[in-house]
Amino acid sequence: MIPDKITKAFNEQIMHEFYSSYLYLSMAAWFETEGHEGMGRYMRVQAIEEMSHAMKFFDHILERGGEPELLAIEKPQVKWDSPLAAFENALAHEQFISGLINDLMTLSIAENDHASRTMLQYFVDEQVEEEDTASKSVYRVKMVGDGGQGLLMLDREFGSRVFKIPPTPVLGTEAE
Ligand code: MG
Repeated sequence: MIPDKITKAFNEQIMHEFYSSYLYLSMAAWFETEGHEGMGRYMRVQAIEEMSHAMKFFDHILERGGEPELLAIEKPQVKWDSPLAAFENALAHEQFISGLINDLMTLSIAENDHASRTMLQYFVDEQVEEEDTASKSVYRVKMVGDGGQGLLMLDREFGSRVFKIPPTPVLGTEAE
């Protein structure tokens, strides 16, 4: 049985992961409106990945006899000053999420809930990767600056991203 405190905290995390998905989908809409199709596609993939994060928490609660409760999702920002501003926002957001994951880990240690700890370890590792990827994106966008040619090339590169099914598939999805 999952402790009540953990269920409550995980339900909040489900909301944060869905908000992440919303934020990246909003960025995708903005990028594509601005003609940066590749960056838009990149953010669409990121939005799907965030949904899969939410589902991991959702499934974990259910598997342990708890009840997932979906909370209200805030409206995300809809416009950014530049592609760089959007990627900087994504990095800041991932740093915020890492803080939340750390707090969840601290809580599961305090509650002596080993099942949560094992599950959260995936997210601790995932956040190291998310922050690394986001800061590399910021760096690359910064490097090309406002130069049309460089930005076009970078846009094409961002557009090559595909969604990879996570190693532990989300229930209801199947690896090919
Ligand atoms: Mg996430």
